[in-house]
Amino acid sequence: MRLSKFFLPVSKEAPADAAIVSHQLMLRTGMIRQNGAGIYSWLPLGFRVLKRIEQIVREEMNRSGAIEMLMPTLQQADLWRESGRYDDYGKEMLRIKDRHDRDMLYGPTNEELVTDVFRTYVKSYKQLPLNLYHQQWKFRDEVRPRFGVMRGREFLMKDAYSFDLTEEGARAAYRKMFCAYLNAFDRMGLTAIPMRADTGPIGGDLSHEFIILAETGESAVFCDKALLDLPAPGLDLDFGADLTPFVDERTSYYAATEEMHDEAAFNALPEDRRVSARGIEVGHIFYFGTKYSKPMNAVVQGPDGQMVPVQMGSYGIGVSRLLGAIIEACHDENGIVWPEAVAPFDVGLINMRPGDEACDAACETLYAAMTAAGREVLYDETDDRAGAKFARMDLIGLPWQTTVGPRGVAEGKVEVKNRKTGEKHDVKIEDMLAQLKGS
Ligand code: ATP
Ligand code: MG
Repeated sequence: MRLSKFFLPVSKEAPADAAIVSHQLMLRTGMIRQNGAGIYSWLPLGFRVLKRIEQIVREEMNRSGAIEMLMPTLQQADLWRESGRYDDYGKEMLRIKDRHDRDMLYGPTNEELVTDVFRTYVKSYKQLPLNLYHQQWKFRDEVRPRFGVMRGREFLMKDAYSFDLTEEGARAAYRKMFCAYLNAFDRMGLTAIPMRADTGPIGGDLSHEFIILAETGESAVFCDKALLDLPAPGLDLDFGADLTPFVDERTSYYAATEEMHDEAAFNALPEDRRVSARGIEVGHIFYFGTKYSKPMNAVVQGPDGQMVPVQMGSYGIGVSRLLGAIIEACHDENGIVWPEAVAPFDVGLINMRPGDEACDAACETLYAAMTAAGREVLYDETDDRAGAKFARMDLIGLPWQTTVGPRGVAEGKVEVKNRKTGEKHDVKIEDMLAQLKGS
């Protein structure tokens, strides 16, 4: 992508109304534009990151055996009357009437809708286990939308729903999500810690929140320091195997959100392992048994011929919130430092002297070679001052910068900078081209 042809409305000023660094940086880099309280347009740079996060979530959900679909944002109120949540949900639910005066709502979550899909088509235990998911916009009329995309009113969520015949089956489905979540967050460059959590209005008796530690987090959290260094299960995990040993080991360490905090158990840890911090909730998983299947009559025939309500769990990831959470975890005084897996572009190519024949030619050659090698390149061929170009590249945080200037080009060299470490070194153009060709 040539910068002059891209839409990147970067601004120098830190926006006055943004209280936390991720919100400031998302506005300054032109990733989002607020449309109303907690409602945003995703501008091209932000949209690219959103899509990459969505794709990682998709790949890890698919790897675990979950199946993607898409349910609507607008739902019929009647389904929510069946579960009893139409009245329980409160003002967070945006209620709408259509032209026929029918009650509708903008979905804050999808348990009812997916249960309706399930009960329509699944009648036998032979069709189980089943895990259906989608990535769809939600609306919750939050009392206090704030911190940009972290607590929006309209936000993108990945929500999955598991269906099993037995409680043991449902717990196995829960463990799969537990592991898939750790892998997904790990791929995004994040250390997410599963913490025992309150089940809240979704209900049920087993629940974990996946928390990223950050000073600006909204929740107070408590955990064992050892959890910060434990690896994710890994992409070669066999989801067909019994995941109990892994999950039991991981949940044997102390980790709880404020609502579930047990001071005595926490204080039993050696002092240097007690982490009392703030955290951002990026995912939340629940096992809630028959809470929806019973009232909505989602029943299947078991091996003995009896009809039983299906056992369910639901599993959310805050896809749009993750952009804020990643920036909170990955930035420095010059701007964002994207982890490679979610960066909007892989490389920023900077032409220091557009119009100079040798610089232009070297840039065009590199741009073509990088693109052919599958790299996403943002090529800055604008007339802006060199200092402004460097500052902008640092601000938007692409993992690699390749700078092409007249002196280097005369010697057949370009400068490569790693955004994260700040390390720079000269690379021969011919070596870079050879390497790209081999990749
Ligand atoms: P919170 O406690 O932060 O209000 P929640 O527990 O109500 O979240 P869930 O119903 O568990 O949220 O939703 C699944 C995920 O969706 C959450 O883990 C979070 O990452 C994300 N999420 C929830 N509410 C918002 C919001 N208002 N803006 C952005 N993301 C959100
Ligand atoms: Mg939650």
